[in-house]
Amino acid sequence: MDHTDAVIVGAGVAGLSLAVALREKGTEPLVLERAPGVGGRCATRRVQGRPVDHGVPFLHGRHPAFLASLDAVEDGTRLDGWPAIRAGGGLPCQPEAFEGADRLLAFREGLTRFPKHLARGRNVRLGVNVTALRLLPDAAAIEVVVEGAAPLRAPVVALTMPAPKADQLLQPLAAASRAVAGVLPLLRQIRTIPCLAVIACYDAAPRALEWDVCYPLSSTMVHAIIRDSAKREADGPLTLVVQGRPRFSREYLAAPVEEWAGELLWEAGEFLGDWVERPSLRQEHAWHHARVEPATELSAPIATRLENGAVLALCGDGFSSAMGLEGAFLSGRSLADRLETEGVLPAASTRKDSA
Ligand SMILES: Cc1cc2nc3c(=O)[nH]c(=O)nc-3n(C[C@H](O)[C@H](O)[C@H](O)COP(=O)(O)OP(=O)(O)OC[C@H]3O[C@@H](n4cnc5c(N)ncnc54)[C@H](O)[C@@H]3O)c2cc1C
Repeated sequence: MDHTDAVIVGAGVAGLSLAVALREKGTEPLVLERAPGVGGRCATRRVQGRPVDHGVPFLHGRHPAFLASLDAVEDGTRLDGWPAIRAGGGLPCQPEAFEGADRLLAFREGLTRFPKHLARGRNVRLGVNVTALRLLPDAAAIEVVVEGAAPLRAPVVALTMPAPKADQLLQPLAAASRAVAGVLPLLRQIRTIPCLAVIACYDAAPRALEWDVCYPLSSTMVHAIIRDSAKREADGPLTLVVQGRPRFSREYLAAPVEEWAGELLWEAGEFLGDWVERPSLRQEHAWHHARVEPATELSAPIATRLENGAVLALCGDGFSSAMGLEGAFLSGRSLADRLETEGVLPAASTRKDSA
């Protein structure tokens, strides 16, 4: 069975930021990610050979550590201040993003440039789905069960997926561990909002759009229309990403894709013209846990010592008052600080021993 000092489940921005911060403190964790690439909800897919950001549409934040990390991305063409032109009069999911204190940024090659930068040089295994955790009775370690391969064991395991998903993994452990049972009520404070998203490409759009992002004020279905192609080279088709409002997304989450994708494009057409209903190519993505519902987030990550001496930790966008992607990044760093302060990291204790 593989043994490692720390396992991080999830290579989204929180998991990768935690991995970077732990490395700075002398511990190289193993990051397990079930998807074929890193980034999680900071997601870029290729459509007709061109990148499209179908999760978070742009990066924004103000914390010096977050901004320094964005500045360190070397292989992306920076679009500072994107989205520069906003229309519609409605509000983004985090209205403070546009109040002046946040820096806004996108990358021409797609937003995954940021998580890819964080992952560089880190020990990340892709395509590894963690299906269960087990508390070992005879060692200060947690067994991490993965699909189709041998389990791993580590004295520190950090979960970084959306809170309801972490809840599912931890529930079976709660009967055997009072410490885990004590974490679940906290975790259940965090509520998430779904988002149904449609990518629509138009080879021959009848008119040019002047804005980068439109937040329709009067729509009950559409939260945002993002002109993704405004981030790319000018030679491609017009590409829009239409995001559903939280209530609409919740209502249609279990409905056939055809139904909700058609509804969203029809509603976007009400604002832009009925040509929007007839894209040359359409793709969809249902985000079950797109964002954290405001005021349900916790202000800090969790780290708890289990009965056998192992440490279970949790971070992610639900574990920082900054919320969103910046909150995910900060929660990873804050968890690393906490693990160091509490003397949990093997390298930290070695350093203390040798001092
Ligand atoms: C449509 C949309 C719009 C958004 N708009 C904004 C915005 O305007 N501003 C903003 O700040 N934020 C926005 N966000 C939210 C932002 O993207 C997230 O807050 C942030 O990316 C969360 O990062 P994370 O690392 O906490 O979680 P995630 O990105 O979800 O990372 C968790 C990772 O864990 C992996 N994983 C899950 N389960 C397992 C398992 N069992 N085994 C192995 N791996 C697993 C997942 O595949 C994923 O890669 C938006 C998100 C979406 C989807």
